[in-house]
Amino acid sequence: MTKEKIHDMLTSYDKKNLRIATVCSHSSLQIFNGARKEGFKTIGISVGEKKDIYNAFPLGKPDEFLIVENYKEILNCTEELREKNAIIIPHGSFVEYLGAEKFLKLALPTFGNRNVLSWESDRNKERIWLEGAGLTMPQEIKDPKDIDRPVIVKYHGAKGGKGFFIAKTYDEFKKRIIKNKSFVIQEFVMGTRYYLHYFYSPIQDNAYKLKTGSLQLLSMDRRDETTIDEVQRLGSIAELEELGIHPTFVVTGNIPIVMRESLLPKVFKMGEAVVDKSLELFGGIIGTFCLETVVTEDLDFKVFEISARIVAGTNPYVSGSPYSELIQPDLSTGRRIAQEIKFAAKKNLLEKILS
Ligand code: AMP
Repeated sequence: MTKEKIHDMLTSYDKKNLRIATVCSHSSLQIFNGARKEGFKTIGISVGEKKDIYNAFPLGKPDEFLIVENYKEILNCTEELREKNAIIIPHGSFVEYLGAEKFLKLALPTFGNRNVLSWESDRNKERIWLEGAGLTMPQEIKDPKDIDRPVIVKYHGAKGGKGFFIAKTYDEFKKRIIKNKSFVIQEFVMGTRYYLHYFYSPIQDNAYKLKTGSLQLLSMDRRDETTIDEVQRLGSIAELEELGIHPTFVVTGNIPIVMRESLLPKVFKMGEAVVDKSLELFGGIIGTFCLETVVTEDLDFKVFEISARIVAGTNPYVSGSPYSELIQPDLSTGRRIAQEIKFAAKKNLLEKILS
């Protein structure tokens, strides 16, 4: 989608009647709830019938549903959505299941910068971005024969950590690796995990000031991953591996967390550097993003991944987090997105936050 096309679409939009639309999954309850709090009408794009779930949560229910049979069909509904002045809020499942290529072609104004996609989904480019910003990432081990410490092996495009495994030696690696699947090997960083939820506004400067715009830290979470996070209930990993039981990293939920306050300056410095570098590389990340980190015993951050849109880890905070409460009571990430759209619409700046 070119800037010109988005511009043309927005020209025909009734800016006083914008509607927030997203796919019914992932963080949609929070997105609809946040939009409602800011006075927007909402559209739930439902792949199959999902109304029952939303009936159970009236304050997270969209005002209307658009039911499609599969994700691909969303591409056929763009005209209908444009007629309704819909702005799309992409979330992890939206992009994952629609597919990057189709998402890039989606002819609808979309919150955030779609150019970020190639930088976050290609692990080499992601490393250029994050290390270029001065962040420390886990070391990558190019040749499995060089495994000389615990490593995590990640398959490309694996959904929710599926199939990832830990190896401590080359022999272990050889036993577990699935042939003909591309992968990366990273040092397994020892420490505690924090998933940091930022919001970067290129058009408002009422928060932590950056060269252009400002940065907020809305919340943080820790993912709950099965079976690694509870495997110790049965025995040590070493014991279990001898029995052929290997831990897995499949995300099943999210746990709220706060960090020792003295680490917050580092958190903001990292967020700032990521935004600055993104401006240099691809015109800048916009809105919500998440740095997935491990804090080591020396209190250093190692960043193993970036997600460039709303993450499901923000879901525990529908009515605010210990951080967002200090910005504005009752502020979720979903609500913050709606506020940004509202502000941009009022100031005629929508093109700066949509792509
Ligand atoms: P990812 O798909 O990269 O988010 O990884 C899935 C999960 O694997 C993360 O949520 C972490 O629990 C774990 N993980 C990923 N990379 C590392 C690493 N380098 N060191 C330790 N744990 C990791």
